Amino acid sequence: MPPKKRAPTAKKPAVKKTAVKKTAVKKPAVKKPAVKKPAVKKTAVMKTAVMKTAVMKTAAKPLPARPKSTRAVSVPKPGTIPAAAGPSPYETPYHGAPLGAHVSTSGGVGTAPPRGVDIGATAIQLFTKQANQWKERLVEDAEGQAFRAALAQTPVAFTNAHDSYLINLASPNPDLRARSIDSFEHEMRRSNTLGLHAVVSHPGNFMDDRPSGVARNADAIAEVLERVVGPTRLLMELTAGQGTVIGSTFEEMAALLARLPTALQARVGVCLDTAHVFAAGYDLAGDYDGVMARFEDVLGFSRLGLLHLNDSKAPLGSRKDRHELIGAGAIGDGAFRRIMTDPRLAAVPKVLETPKGDDMISNDRAMLRKLRAFAANR
Ligand SMILES: [Zn+2]
Ligand SMILES: [Zn+2]
Repeated sequence: MPPKKRAPTAKKPAVKKTAVKKTAVKKPAVKKPAVKKPAVKKTAVMKTAVMKTAVMKTAAKPLPARPKSTRAVSVPKPGTIPAAAGPSPYETPYHGAPLGAHVSTSGGVGTAPPRGVDIGATAIQLFTKQANQWKERLVEDAEGQAFRAALAQTPVAFTNAHDSYLINLASPNPDLRARSIDSFEHEMRRSNTLGLHAVVSHPGNFMDDRPSGVARNADAIAEVLERVVGPTRLLMELTAGQGTVIGSTFEEMAALLARLPTALQARVGVCLDTAHVFAAGYDLAGDYDGVMARFEDVLGFSRLGLLHLNDSKAPLGSRKDRHELIGAGAIGDGAFRRIMTDPRLAAVPKVLETPKGDDMISNDRAMLRKLRAFAANR
């Protein structure tokens, strides 16, 4: 999942404390856009708002340890890059496939391409609507054209949407499944109008029995792809395997894709999230070659449309979806060095979904510089 999904109560990793303090101290000087938060998150947002007020009043003093919140942080306007952000990753030569991160669309999807530039990205992932609300919106042709025109002014060469967290195309509940299909269809329509390369979608929760859930998920995808035709591919994301979620094994993902009508299969691929597959039990840290060989055997690199590069706070096989900064989690730098130099992955776009930090820019810049250095074997 992208970083916005992180529970606001999650603890900040100890290594980030210094950076957090520095950033927070600078905050009062920065014009703060209004914090707009979904109603469902009110409690957490309000708590954080209280904390932020306290932070501003005591700006000159070091901050006490406080709960991490990547979501309740005010989002800087595109082009306002904090001094702490460090050099742009664009300054580190890199000749691989598009590489970037999930970026905020606060202020509209048109703000995403310049935000990608701010972090030094050549790939961006975004939400085309509020991801934790059912409310839908349409993207009119003019908005799509404006987005594409803004994008053309940037080095960003790959764009994808991540669909809503509420969608469960595998649900046995007819009402929830119908609502999910409608929401998924809206997502595919918006993304096509914006000209995005892909929509990333999580397989749903089967709730009753697994094979029926896989079938319901595949049938819902087929239904929507038959109605919505356009340039945007669908990439089904491998999951961590918590609860009754499907798609945490390569075999189950292959079964889901195999159920799609042949005519639709070329429009559907796979997104491999390193934190998810590690939590699902694939040991990228200890057996990189074995995991990738298994992926090739069962799914095939030709179906791999996107990599989500995240370290994992949760241990191998824990089935927990907890993203961490690259090198700071249970996976460690080694696997990411391998990924950045693996010729089989050279043409696959790569997107970070790691914790943003308070200024929304510094962490992503540091991660992208690090990955580019790995690619250059530094
Ligand atoms: Zn995801
Ligand atoms: Zn992901």
